Amino acid sequence: MRKIIVGMAIIFAIFGGIVMFLERPERTDVIVIGAGASGISAAIEAKQAGLSVVLLEKMPRIGGNSQRATGGMNAVNSVVQENDGLVDSESLFLADTLAAGHYQNDRKLANLLVEKSGEAVNWLIGFGADLTDLGRLAGHRVDRTHRPSGGAPVGSEVVRVLGEQLVRLGINLRVENKVIQLIDEDNRVTGVLVRNEEGREYEIMADAVVIASGGFGGSAERFVFYNPDLKGFKTTNHAGATGDYIDLVADLPIDLIDMEKIQAHPTVEPHFGILITEAIRGNGGILINMDGNRFTDEMAFRDVLSEEMRQQPMGKNFLIFDESIRNGLSAADAYIDMNLVMEATSISELAQILDVDLVDLTRSIERYNGFVAGGSDEEFHRRDLPIQLTAPFFAILVQPGVHYCMGGLPINESAQVLDRDGVPIQGLFACGEATGGIHGNNRLGGNSMTDAIVFGRIAGQTAGVVNK
Ligand SMILES: Cc1cc2nc3c(=O)[nH]c(=O)nc-3n(C[C@H](O)[C@H](O)[C@H](O)COP(=O)(O)OP(=O)(O)OC[C@H]3O[C@@H](n4cnc5c(N)ncnc54)[C@H](O)[C@@H]3O)c2cc1C
Repeated sequence: MRKIIVGMAIIFAIFGGIVMFLERPERTDVIVIGAGASGISAAIEAKQAGLSVVLLEKMPRIGGNSQRATGGMNAVNSVVQENDGLVDSESLFLADTLAAGHYQNDRKLANLLVEKSGEAVNWLIGFGADLTDLGRLAGHRVDRTHRPSGGAPVGSEVVRVLGEQLVRLGINLRVENKVIQLIDEDNRVTGVLVRNEEGREYEIMADAVVIASGGFGGSAERFVFYNPDLKGFKTTNHAGATGDYIDLVADLPIDLIDMEKIQAHPTVEPHFGILITEAIRGNGGILINMDGNRFTDEMAFRDVLSEEMRQQPMGKNFLIFDESIRNGLSAADAYIDMNLVMEATSISELAQILDVDLVDLTRSIERYNGFVAGGSDEEFHRRDLPIQLTAPFFAILVQPGVHYCMGGLPINESAQVLDRDGVPIQGLFACGEATGGIHGNNRLGGNSMTDAIVFGRIAGQTAGVVNK
């Protein structure tokens, strides 16, 4: 009898061991939450450092807001700038970044962004990205905004080459796998709880978890909660930009920073929420209000310009450009294909189509062209006056729309998430739009793609190494 009991105990122990083994959560070195530009960059760096990586993306495809980026990616001392012989410097780029942020930026992080920007562009070019076209967005004093030749949108190009690297390196990417909880022990993050496409929940344990889940500009509920002034605003963001990190870290001793600092992009087509790239203004486009009057420096910082645009009659305005601007930017053709653009062969036809006063519109365009000829905008002091506008003209109805979240998780220069006392939370890293502080009160156009790549790479290089 005794032998039977011992035998059964052994069988149960073996069986229990097998069950426990089968149920043991999966383990990896690094988990990355979100497959936008920052998350993919982190995953690539971690994998290249010899670590095992699981990259989790809740949407059916990779890319997030990164896929939508249009205007370009800023960098100083890239191979493209060097080949062009452009005179720029880290200090000038930093000065433009800090001025745009109204000097509320985290200086150390902003400095790192600038310092590593050229390397970030070169890294992408090394993967085969076409970033050869140099332009200038609002608030820059030098052409340092990199985009594909012909002024094509930057985001799809960056995501394309990063996606190719995911495949090349055999990185374990799981789309439609949403992280719903962080697992932590004594304030050390040790893993995540995931819900897959079939609704099954499972755990993965890791030495390091990188939050790269983007901002919350796609959730009206969230952006109005943090900034009630934005009630009724359209958004340029993708549907997955719902600020999931806010819930994920809710039980950790972290104070999110700058959450009310939400950037409205001045030129968003109001019916479909489509962002009209700043490059149209950068290449010489102007803004006209519903009365037919030019009313501002079109290259003012985004926050200043958005506010001025909201003050105009009906809060809506027209972005006017011409054939040469259209020819220099393939994004303009995309807007034409989307039926967002009105075309006119003369100023009088333009006034008729836009239903604005012909005298005011004629005076506005002719006066502006005179400023270009004289090299000085005596009315609104626009610094950059690339071209005179000539017929045929193109116009797009625009108004400000929610675009970018300056706030988020506090991080240090190693992309470690900091607790309330400024001490790194063990095992937790963050990068990209889910983080706060780098851009101060107002992000300089083109700096977010740089941020995503620079800090994504840093997170991937440090995650899995720092806490071992
Ligand atoms: C229309 C538009 C145009 C822009 N143009 C420019 C530009 O020209 N230049 C520039 O510098 N910046 C631009 N930006 C801003 C820039 O694109 C973004 O700020 C940047 O790409 C953010 O990168 P990210 O990796 O942090 O986030 P994202 O690219 O948004 O990626 C985050 C990913 O995380 C996923 N995710 C979220 N929660 C979870 C979860 N719980 N589990 C798993 N996955 C999750 C999301 O689905 C998403 O795929 C633009 C933004 C928009 C919307």
